[in-house]
Amino acid sequence: MEALKGVSEKVMKLILLGAPGAGKGSQGKILAEHYNILTLCSGDILRSRVKEKAGALGFAESMNGGQLVSDEYVMNLVMDELKKPKYENGYILDGVPRTVEQADMLERNGIKVDAVLYIDASDEVVKRRILNRRVCSCCGALHCGADLLKCGQCGGNLEKRADDTAEVIQERLNVYREKTEPLVGYYSERGLLKKFDGNQEKEKVAELMFDVLERL
Ligand SMILES: [Zn+2]
Repeated sequence: MEALKGVSEKVMKLILLGAPGAGKGSQGKILAEHYNILTLCSGDILRSRVKEKAGALGFAESMNGGQLVSDEYVMNLVMDELKKPKYENGYILDGVPRTVEQADMLERNGIKVDAVLYIDASDEVVKRRILNRRVCSCCGALHCGADLLKCGQCGGNLEKRADDTAEVIQERLNVYREKTEPLVGYYSERGLLKKFDGNQEKEKVAELMFDVLERL
Protein backbone atom coordinates (compact mmCIF):
# COMPACT_ATOMS: atom_id res chain seq x y z
CA MET A 1 0.00 0.00 0.00
CA GLU A 2 2.70 2.46 -1.03
CA ALA A 3 0.13 5.01 -2.18
CA LEU A 4 -1.32 5.31 1.32
CA LYS A 5 1.89 6.77 2.71
CA GLY A 6 2.28 10.51 2.56
CA VAL A 7 -0.03 13.08 1.09
CA SER A 8 -0.44 13.57 -2.64
CA GLU A 9 -0.36 17.00 -4.27
CA LYS A 10 -2.87 16.03 -6.92
CA VAL A 11 -6.14 17.97 -7.20
CA MET A 12 -8.89 15.38 -7.16
CA LYS A 13 -12.59 15.88 -7.68
CA LEU A 14 -14.33 12.57 -7.17
CA ILE A 15 -17.74 11.01 -6.81
CA LEU A 16 -18.21 7.82 -4.80
CA LEU A 17 -21.03 5.70 -6.11
CA GLY A 18 -22.42 2.51 -4.62
CA ALA A 19 -25.18 0.98 -2.50
CA PRO A 20 -25.51 1.90 1.17
CA GLY A 21 -22.95 -0.28 2.98
CA ALA A 22 -20.78 -0.79 -0.11
CA GLY A 23 -17.92 1.03 1.64
CA LYS A 24 -18.18 4.59 0.29
CA GLY A 25 -17.59 6.06 3.75
CA SER A 26 -14.46 4.01 4.44
CA GLN A 27 -12.96 4.68 1.02
CA GLY A 28 -13.88 8.36 1.21
CA LYS A 29 -11.95 8.68 4.44
CA ILE A 30 -8.83 6.97 3.03
CA LEU A 31 -8.92 9.01 -0.19
CA ALA A 32 -9.58 12.29 1.64
CA GLU A 33 -6.53 11.80 3.84
CA HIS A 34 -4.29 10.84 0.96
CA TYR A 35 -5.26 13.70 -1.32
CA ASN A 36 -5.78 16.13 1.56
CA ILE A 37 -9.27 17.01 0.41
CA LEU A 38 -12.69 17.10 2.03
CA THR A 39 -15.50 14.63 1.79
CA LEU A 40 -18.94 16.06 1.25
CA CYS A 41 -21.56 13.64 2.44
CA SER A 42 -25.16 14.58 1.67
CA GLY A 43 -26.33 12.43 4.57
CA ASP A 44 -24.33 14.55 7.04
CA ILE A 45 -25.57 17.81 5.52
CA LEU A 46 -29.15 16.57 5.64
CA ARG A 47 -28.87 15.26 9.19
CA SER A 48 -27.50 18.57 10.43
CA ARG A 49 -30.33 20.32 8.59
CA VAL A 50 -32.85 18.06 10.30
CA LYS A 51 -31.45 19.11 13.66
CA GLU A 52 -31.51 22.79 12.68
CA LYS A 53 -35.07 22.60 11.47
CA ALA A 54 -36.71 20.48 14.13
CA GLY A 55 -40.06 21.66 12.76
CA ALA A 56 -39.56 19.97 9.39
CA LEU A 57 -41.14 16.73 10.54
CA GLY A 58 -42.12 15.34 7.18
CA PHE A 59 -38.56 15.78 6.03
CA ALA A 60 -37.07 13.90 9.00
CA GLU A 61 -39.59 11.11 8.59
CA SER A 62 -38.88 10.61 4.94
CA MET A 63 -35.15 10.42 5.66
CA ASN A 64 -35.55 7.79 8.36
CA GLY A 65 -37.87 5.79 6.16
CA GLY A 66 -35.19 5.43 3.49
CA GLN A 67 -36.95 7.63 0.97
CA LEU A 68 -35.11 10.32 -0.93
CA VAL A 69 -35.69 13.99 -0.23
CA SER A 70 -36.25 16.27 -3.22
CA ASP A 71 -33.42 16.51 -5.77
CA GLU A 72 -33.51 20.26 -5.86
CA TYR A 73 -33.31 20.64 -2.10
CA VAL A 74 -30.28 18.35 -1.76
CA MET A 75 -28.46 19.78 -4.74
CA ASN A 76 -28.86 23.37 -3.62
CA LEU A 77 -27.31 22.47 -0.27
CA VAL A 78 -24.45 20.62 -1.95
CA MET A 79 -23.74 23.28 -4.56
CA ASP A 80 -23.78 26.06 -1.94
CA GLU A 81 -21.30 24.07 0.08
CA LEU A 82 -18.99 23.43 -2.90
CA LYS A 83 -18.63 27.19 -3.49
CA LYS A 84 -16.63 27.48 -0.28
CA PRO A 85 -12.87 28.01 -0.78
CA LYS A 86 -12.03 24.91 1.26
CA TYR A 87 -13.10 22.74 -1.71
CA GLU A 88 -10.80 24.43 -4.21
CA ASN A 89 -8.16 21.73 -3.96
CA GLY A 90 -10.66 19.00 -4.63
CA TYR A 91 -13.38 17.01 -2.91
CA ILE A 92 -15.11 13.71 -2.68
CA LEU A 93 -18.87 13.56 -3.06
CA ASP A 94 -20.24 10.67 -1.03
CA GLY A 95 -23.89 9.79 -1.50
CA VAL A 96 -24.48 12.53 -4.04
CA PRO A 97 -25.64 12.61 -6.78
CA ARG A 98 -28.21 9.94 -5.97
CA THR A 99 -30.33 10.29 -9.08
CA VAL A 100 -29.76 11.04 -12.77
CA GLU A 101 -31.65 14.32 -12.19
CA GLN A 102 -29.15 15.31 -9.50
CA ALA A 103 -26.24 14.41 -11.81
CA ASP A 104 -27.79 16.58 -14.52
CA MET A 105 -28.02 19.48 -12.08
CA LEU A 106 -24.31 19.18 -11.25
CA GLU A 107 -23.47 19.09 -14.95
CA ARG A 108 -25.69 22.11 -15.73
CA ASN A 109 -23.96 24.05 -12.96
CA GLY A 110 -20.53 23.32 -14.38
CA ILE A 111 -19.45 20.96 -11.62
CA LYS A 112 -17.06 18.53 -13.27
CA VAL A 113 -15.31 15.62 -11.60
CA ASP A 114 -12.19 13.68 -12.55
CA ALA A 115 -13.65 10.24 -11.89
CA VAL A 116 -16.66 8.42 -10.53
CA LEU A 117 -15.56 5.56 -8.30
CA TYR A 118 -18.24 2.88 -8.39
CA ILE A 119 -18.09 0.33 -5.59
CA ASP A 120 -20.15 -2.68 -6.63
CA ALA A 121 -21.19 -4.90 -3.70
CA SER A 122 -23.88 -7.57 -3.43
CA ASP A 123 -27.09 -7.04 -1.45
CA GLU A 124 -26.04 -9.79 0.96
CA VAL A 125 -22.70 -8.20 1.73
CA VAL A 126 -24.11 -4.72 2.31
CA LYS A 127 -26.98 -6.00 4.48
CA ARG A 128 -24.55 -7.90 6.69
CA ARG A 129 -22.26 -4.88 7.00
CA ILE A 130 -25.00 -2.42 7.87
CA LEU A 131 -26.64 -4.68 10.44
CA ASN A 132 -23.26 -5.19 12.13
CA ARG A 133 -22.21 -1.59 12.23
CA ARG A 134 -22.28 0.57 15.33
CA VAL A 135 -21.96 4.31 15.61
CA CYS A 136 -20.22 6.12 18.48
CA SER A 137 -22.70 8.25 20.44
CA CYS A 138 -19.84 10.58 21.29
CA CYS A 139 -17.66 11.19 18.21
CA GLY A 140 -19.88 9.68 15.50
CA ALA A 141 -17.26 7.19 14.25
CA LEU A 142 -18.63 4.08 12.56
CA HIS A 143 -17.40 0.70 13.72
CA CYS A 144 -17.91 -2.82 12.38
CA GLY A 145 -18.91 -5.52 14.82
CA ALA A 146 -22.21 -6.10 16.56
CA ASP A 147 -20.40 -7.14 19.76
CA LEU A 148 -18.43 -3.90 20.17
CA LEU A 149 -19.48 -1.73 23.10
CA LYS A 150 -16.92 1.09 23.28
CA CYS A 151 -15.49 3.36 20.61
CA GLY A 152 -11.83 2.60 19.83
CA GLN A 153 -11.18 6.26 19.08
CA CYS A 154 -12.72 8.08 22.03
CA GLY A 155 -14.11 5.45 24.42
CA GLY A 156 -17.69 6.60 23.88
CA ASN A 157 -20.63 4.18 23.91
CA LEU A 158 -21.50 2.47 20.64
CA GLU A 159 -25.06 2.10 19.50
CA LYS A 160 -27.02 0.92 16.51
CA ARG A 161 -28.21 3.71 14.26
CA ALA A 162 -31.98 4.10 14.41
CA ASP A 163 -32.31 3.56 10.64
CA ASP A 164 -30.07 0.46 10.50
CA THR A 165 -32.85 -2.15 10.58
CA ALA A 166 -33.43 -4.96 8.06
CA GLU A 167 -36.62 -3.29 6.77
CA VAL A 168 -35.04 0.12 6.29
CA ILE A 169 -31.95 -1.40 4.65
CA GLN A 170 -34.08 -3.33 2.17
CA GLU A 171 -36.04 -0.19 1.38
CA ARG A 172 -32.82 1.80 0.91
CA LEU A 173 -31.46 -0.90 -1.40
CA ASN A 174 -34.66 -0.87 -3.44
CA VAL A 175 -34.48 2.91 -3.76
CA TYR A 176 -30.79 2.66 -4.65
CA ARG A 177 -31.34 0.07 -7.41
CA GLU A 178 -34.20 2.04 -8.89
CA LYS A 179 -32.99 5.64 -8.56
CA THR A 180 -29.22 5.61 -8.13
CA GLU A 181 -27.94 2.63 -10.09
CA PRO A 182 -28.82 4.27 -13.44
CA LEU A 183 -25.89 6.60 -12.68
CA VAL A 184 -23.56 3.70 -13.53
CA GLY A 185 -24.64 3.93 -17.16
CA TYR A 186 -24.81 7.72 -17.04
CA TYR A 187 -21.17 8.14 -15.97
CA SER A 188 -19.98 5.23 -18.06
CA GLU A 189 -21.26 7.03 -21.16
CA ARG A 190 -19.23 10.09 -20.11
CA GLY A 191 -16.06 8.02 -19.75
CA LEU A 192 -15.79 8.78 -16.02
CA LEU A 193 -16.78 5.48 -14.42
CA LYS A 194 -14.19 3.35 -12.60
CA LYS A 195 -15.64 0.14 -11.22
CA PHE A 196 -14.39 -1.76 -8.14
CA ASP A 197 -15.48 -5.01 -6.56
CA GLY A 198 -16.84 -3.89 -3.17
CA ASN A 199 -17.24 -7.43 -1.84
CA GLN A 200 -13.50 -7.41 -1.04
CA GLU A 201 -11.78 -6.09 2.09
CA LYS A 202 -11.69 -2.30 2.19
CA GLU A 203 -7.86 -2.27 2.15
CA LYS A 204 -7.88 -4.15 -1.14
CA VAL A 205 -10.48 -1.80 -2.65
CA ALA A 206 -8.42 1.21 -1.55
CA GLU A 207 -5.30 -0.23 -3.18
CA LEU A 208 -7.14 -0.72 -6.48
CA MET A 209 -8.53 2.82 -6.30
CA PHE A 210 -5.11 4.37 -5.82
CA ASP A 211 -3.80 2.38 -8.78
CA VAL A 212 -6.51 3.88 -10.96
CA LEU A 213 -6.33 7.43 -9.59
CA GLU A 214 -2.56 7.68 -9.86
CA ARG A 215 -2.90 6.97 -13.57
CA LEU A 216 -5.52 9.69 -14.20
ZN1 LIG B 1 -16.04 7.75 19.52
